Amino acid sequence: MRIEIVEESDLKVKFILRDVPIVLANSLRRAMKSLVPTMAVDYVVFYMNTSFLYDEIIAHRIGLIPIKTNLDRFNMPGECVCGGEGCPNCQVSFRLNVEGPKVIYSGDLISEDPEIKPVYDNIPIVELFEGQQLMIEAVARLGIGKEHAKYQPVSSCYYKIIPEIVVGDCSGCGDCVEVCPRDVLKMGRGVEVGDVLRCSMCMECVKVCEEDAIKVLETNNYLFFVEGTGSLPVREVMKRAVEALKRKAEEMNDILKEIV
Ligand SMILES: [Zn+2]
Repeated sequence: MRIEIVEESDLKVKFILRDVPIVLANSLRRAMKSLVPTMAVDYVVFYMNTSFLYDEIIAHRIGLIPIKTNLDRFNMPGECVCGGEGCPNCQVSFRLNVEGPKVIYSGDLISEDPEIKPVYDNIPIVELFEGQQLMIEAVARLGIGKEHAKYQPVSSCYYKIIPEIVVGDCSGCGDCVEVCPRDVLKMGRGVEVGDVLRCSMCMECVKVCEEDAIKVLETNNYLFFVEGTGSLPVREVMKRAVEALKRKAEEMNDILKEIV
């Protein structure tokens, strides 16, 4: 398995995964979405809510706010020394006490831990009008996407196969070059293959070629697109996903050994 980073920014990574079967590529995609933990609000205590929205709606909205996560400092609740009851090693509290008129944003949540706070300050939660008040305490903890989508560290994560395009005996009519919607093929001396990463395998070139000269073959190479929510750097998500897969494979090996 080889990974080559093609493009990288704070929130987005585009990379090529080479020489793996498609099931493993898909496992990596699923692991990034559902096995890497992040922090999210899981419990909200309402002391006062005279806004127009029910407690449940506000709690749901707060739960979906991405929160900056440090996986080295916090334990999963089930694996913590407190036995899941809640302690500074596994959870962080946020306070909020606001009177209207005012729109409450994610940035109004005051964290007890300066490092653990919402990724964005400008996510609206609820609008308070004259005389309304919201006073809550929200508790965030680690969880995984398998449990609830609010814990997903990536907002989108998908891949496509990078094909191999083979041009055989060709009369050079150029129909395939014209029909390609992604401009993958170009006309040189004959038909030449340009940037294969752009190919979406629509097979229009194959359909239009009367001599059956062009072939688009599947390979074991994939182009991945990953966009993070900002809770964790995307590179860390990739690394942790690979580790999670490795752990699962080892567990499976142990189970198989026991059976045999
Ligand atoms: Zn704990």
